[in-house]
Amino acid sequence: MSEQVDIAIVGGGMVGASLVAALRPLRLRIALIEAVPHDSQAQPSFDERTTALSNGSRRILETIGVWQEVAPAATTIRRIHVSDRGRCGFARVDAAELGLPGLGYVLSNRAFGAALWAGMGRDPTLRVYCPATVLGVVPSAGSVALRIADSGGERRIEAGLVVAADGVHSVVREAVGVAIETRDYGQSAIITTVLPQRFHDQVAFERFAESGPLALLPLADGRCTLVLTVSTAEVESIMAMSDADFLAEVQDRFGYRLGRFLKVGRRFAYPLALTQARGLSGARCAIIGNAAQSLHPVAGMGFNLGLRDVASLAELLAERCAVGDSS
Ligand SMILES: Cc1cc2nc3c(=O)[nH]c(=O)nc-3n(C[C@H](O)[C@H](O)[C@H](O)COP(=O)(O)OP(=O)(O)OC[C@H]3O[C@@H](n4cnc5c(N)ncnc54)[C@H](O)[C@@H]3O)c2cc1C
Repeated sequence: MSEQVDIAIVGGGMVGASLVAALRPLRLRIALIEAVPHDSQAQPSFDERTTALSNGSRRILETIGVWQEVAPAATTIRRIHVSDRGRCGFARVDAAELGLPGLGYVLSNRAFGAALWAGMGRDPTLRVYCPATVLGVVPSAGSVALRIADSGGERRIEAGLVVAADGVHSVVREAVGVAIETRDYGQSAIITTVLPQRFHDQVAFERFAESGPLALLPLADGRCTLVLTVSTAEVESIMAMSDADFLAEVQDRFGYRLGRFLKVGRRFAYPLALTQARGLSGARCAIIGNAAQSLHPVAGMGFNLGLRDVASLAELLAERCAVGDSS
């Protein structure tokens, strides 16, 4: 026998879990299918990264009742400093000069995941399947059938709509026949934290160099998240460096605006590619977040765009609910 729901969301990462929060007031019957528990070391979305959130994202998160939960863990970006290695001059943007409380916020992905998943306990109409993976998706005229595997074996879910929030390698997007275009950037992003000698003063730094951009995002405890973009050819050797050599490399690329870098955390590397789905919907399917588009982290826009997908889809569904359309 299959479980009947209004919406099946596949992927409970940054975007899928945000959609659960956004749909909460609609009281729809929702099934969330997520392969990896949010607090697992292997979770690909809620991992060691931090995310730079725009003011627009803050407003969306406020509206869907999530900002209140994550605000204590977020660091406000008061200024942004942009420079080009080997050239004089720089650009500086100051929140105070613009009359804003901040230019954006830095939030750890793990803190975000903990807040989003804690909120799910308040949803009486939500059914969570985790760890569970989607094996197949078959749309028909009146519904879409999902075959999933979890610890209890295989089961079937019948939904009015399936949402593909299962990331770049989306099985749902593929099952409904939406193709993607992809371009390898030939670069990887190395993520870690560094402790600078001088306090960052809540300034985010973006520095462009021949080898790729480097970003430093301020964290509450005085450390910074480092996003170092390197070419595919050099990623292996940079990852293999001792901490001292790595800090010297970062110092060389960034300079001494924050004094010397004193400590570095564990490093993680992410190969970078531009991916775009050829459509944002298929038969009884909406495609959101990284399943729809993934881009270079230089602008810190991937999740911010995914959250707009969430807001747009939630608005459309709310309109349908308001006119009593359950098709
Ligand atoms: C180095 C780096 C830094 C970044 N920094 C920023 C930033 O500062 N600001 C910003 O806005 N964006 C940033 N991004 C982009 C951001 O991380 C992504 O846009 C965001 O993670 C997308 O979330 P998602 O939920 O769509 O996909 P994902 O994060 O990929 O999550 C997909 C989820 O689906 C689950 N899943 C996959 N397949 C299945 C299946 N078959 N069945 C069930 N579950 C499944 C996965 O376990 C996962 O939980 C950065 C990206 C990188 C690589």
